[in-house]
Amino acid sequence: MRQPIDLHTHSNVSDGTETPAELVRAAIDAGLGVVAITDHDSTAGWEEAAAAASGTGLTVIPGMEFSTRREWMSIHLLGYLIDPEDVDLREETLRIRESRLKRAETIVSRLAADFAIEWADVVAQTTDGATVGRPHIADALVARGHALDRSAAFEGILHPRHGYSVPHYAPDPLEAVRMVRAAGGVPVLAHPGTRGALSVLDERSLAELVDAGLFGLELHHRENTDSGKRKLARFAEKFGLAVTGSSDYHGDGKPNRLAENTTEPEVLERIIAEGTGSAPFA
Ligand code: AMP
Ligand code: ZN
Ligand code: FE
Ligand code: FE
Repeated sequence: MRQPIDLHTHSNVSDGTETPAELVRAAIDAGLGVVAITDHDSTAGWEEAAAAASGTGLTVIPGMEFSTRREWMSIHLLGYLIDPEDVDLREETLRIRESRLKRAETIVSRLAADFAIEWADVVAQTTDGATVGRPHIADALVARGHALDRSAAFEGILHPRHGYSVPHYAPDPLEAVRMVRAAGGVPVLAHPGTRGALSVLDERSLAELVDAGLFGLELHHRENTDSGKRKLARFAEKFGLAVTGSSDYHGDGKPNRLAENTTEPEVLERIIAEGTGSAPFA
């Protein structure tokens, strides 16, 4: 029996709720054969995940979910098998993480005008050195009793319509695709089938990303709409792009379950063949 392949998960090195070792354990318990650890703008969880997977039969694909932005829309780019020491990539992700931190402080100071919450509440929800995001602010709101859970905080107080949330610095996706390739990595657009993503990434901009080295589209993801998936499938066919499927697991931070969407072994083989910046951990 072929074991499932899940190429998009988060640990508490970004906004997942489990340590990289716990994430690996959860992947084994879920019966996965291969899991990719893809924390936001950070490769800091790779070593711990590799050590935890060693000798278990689980293969860990080292990856990262790169924050990018086109116009007003946040676009995520998965980069597999990148070189974690690549200077340009390191500098860019450091810049994003620093901007994320300042932005989180800004959001909290805006919230503090209307809610009992302070920066220390967010720090208490964040692992040392983790990539800070709105999920940590959501957890602080939950701890203070202002929201029932993370998802409720996102749909309520943290929704952009309420004016507390502000964006952070992020490069254009075209630049990010080039950087991932330059670092030996394999770039795949994360959940590109949402209404927002498709409104800024039309066929022409996708063609540009393909010219820059885009490898694939994460077609099977719970946030892609049905019509978005149909459109993406047409794009993939037309541009010869690979298609992946993944859970985007965040531990208890999101309802997404490991292996709820999976990737075909043939696609993983191509990712491994093209990725030269690092190697899978087995
Ligand atoms: P940020 O990176 O700070 O812009 O926050 C976006 C992150 O929050 C994404 O990685 C999502 O996975 C996560 N997120 C978005 N919506 C939700 C939700 N409803 N519940 C939990 N996490 C979410
Ligand atoms: Zn996340
Ligand atoms: Fe994402
Ligand atoms: Fe993600």
